[in-house]
Order: sequence, then structure tokens, then C-alpha cells
Amino acid sequence: MDVAAYEKLLPDITPRNKPFWDGCAEGELRLQQCSDCGRYRFPDAPVCPQCLSSAATWQKASGTGTIWSWCTMHQKYFAAFADEVPYQLVYVRLTEGPLVISVLADEPDGAPEPHLDQPVHVVFRPNPGGRAIPQFSTADTVTAGK
Ligand SMILES: [Zn+2]
Repeated sequence: MDVAAYEKLLPDITPRNKPFWDGCAEGELRLQQCSDCGRYRFPDAPVCPQCLSSAATWQKASGTGTIWSWCTMHQKYFAAFADEVPYQLVYVRLTEGPLVISVLADEPDGAPEPHLDQPVHVVFRPNPGGRAIPQFSTADTVTAGK
């Protein structure tokens, strides 16, 4: 499927977030790190929300975290996602600190529900449009490109 035929919503790639998407394409979760206070932030921002410094670098993140919250989506809010319900949205507290909203990538129907503080790790599965989107897995084994 070519990108033009892909019907799901995708974030725009901008000069500011391009390092994040370049990382995803390379199988790395990247975060901005403030050069003054050292805190990581997500999503990208022109200034640090803690100290307002505009100095930052992009760093490879661990790709690990824990489930802070989740919900199972049964409603078909978007036609493009109708074939995927039910799916599980998760808020993940990354090891570096920021919260990221994503989906659980590998929970089959009938699997136990996720639980608070459950360890997860990032996985990248290119969608039919060719963009690698970070998702999270509770599985012990990481299989890149799965
Ligand atoms: Zn800062």
C-alpha cells in the first residue's frame, strides 16, 4: 500500500520532530533532553517545560517503562480503525520520566488485561503506509520488526 492510500491519521513530520521520526525508522525511541536541567520531555517542544531553556539534544531512550494507565477501546470512533477494535490504549511512564500515550502491540484477544506498573518495552512495527510507529509490548522478548 502506498502512503497516499493509507487512511489512518499520522502526525506531520516537522523540522522539530524529525529526529524523533528518524529514530523510529531506525528502531530507536528518541527523546529531547534539556541541556540545562537534564530532564527528558515528550512530545518535543521548543522549550523545556521545567526550566524554560531552549537548549536541548536528542537522546536514544531506553525504550522501557511501566503502564501508568490504560483502557480498552471498543467504540469505532474512526472508520480507518474499525477493523482493530477492541484495542488497548496505554499511558506508559518511560524510564526517563515522560508519559507517552500509545497502544499495546501484542495483546491477543482473551489475554489478561494490563495492570498498573506492568513493565513494557517499545516495539516498532511499520504500518502499511511505511511509517514506523512506536507501540509497547508486555512480552519478555523483543522482536524488532515483528
Ligand atoms: Zn530544563
